[in-house]
Amino acid sequence: MNLVSRENHPENTIIKIDNKEIVGGKKLMMIAGPCSVESEEQILTIARELKECGVEFLRGGAFKPRTSPYAFQGLQEEGLKLLQKAREETGMKIVSEITSTDDIELFDKYVDIIQIGSRNMQNFDLLRKVGKLNKPILLKRGLSATIEEWLMAAEYIMCEGNPNVILCERGIRTYETATRNTLDISAIPVVKSLTHLPVIVDPSHAAGRKDLIEPLSRAAIAVGCDGLIIEVHNNPEKALSDNDQQIKPKTYKKIYNNLKKVANAVDRNM
Ligand code: PEP
Ligand code: MN
Repeated sequence: MNLVSRENHPENTIIKIDNKEIVGGKKLMMIAGPCSVESEEQILTIARELKECGVEFLRGGAFKPRTSPYAFQGLQEEGLKLLQKAREETGMKIVSEITSTDDIELFDKYVDIIQIGSRNMQNFDLLRKVGKLNKPILLKRGLSATIEEWLMAAEYIMCEGNPNVILCERGIRTYETATRNTLDISAIPVVKSLTHLPVIVDPSHAAGRKDLIEPLSRAAIAVGCDGLIIEVHNNPEKALSDNDQQIKPKTYKKIYNNLKKVANAVDRNM
């Protein structure tokens, strides 16, 4: 380990967009939005409600890595254009997942923070290519990746010249079936001791259950995460992907306000 290592870079990395801090400082980075972009009305409705809550970062998948090839694969380029509409209207920054090196130019054009999903954490070609960009990269932990493997994936991005890597713990595969994955809560302080990079948490994919979003978010903030990415949908029952874990904007707002107290207790803000 070299560029990711805290030994070589003791102070926390603070990532900026247009010279404005987005993550790594005292303020928690709150990212929210649907699993998938489904229509103009859907993404704009959700974006407006989240913006009203105070959320600055809108997530939405346009290229979806689905387990089944017959499941909804995302609106692709059209989805990215709809996200851009939401950005134009609300001023929110856009987070979306890239799945192929063929789409680098498209993402560079439409997306503010490029997500590398769990399934691509060790797609070394993709890591090197996003490493050549200047944009922040949200690097999710692989489904069964060790912390060492995850940090080495970040190293692939950084060694190409892009220092703006945000790590995201999103649950790992274990024998437990009560939750979709198991949130590795200890990974947060462990990773923060090993690296200067910011670490955020995705309780939605970790749990796969709406009822666990709030308690896992509280725990993540308490152990020192730098932000949260949460799936929010205006009509979760009808969502085209991940409908068990998506919460409504109204529920998100309640959780968001409750989390402020936890943030303040550990000297952070939202
Ligand atoms: C997602 O964010 O919708 C997603 C597919 O996440 P992960 O890569 O963590 O499964
Ligand atoms: Mn999802």
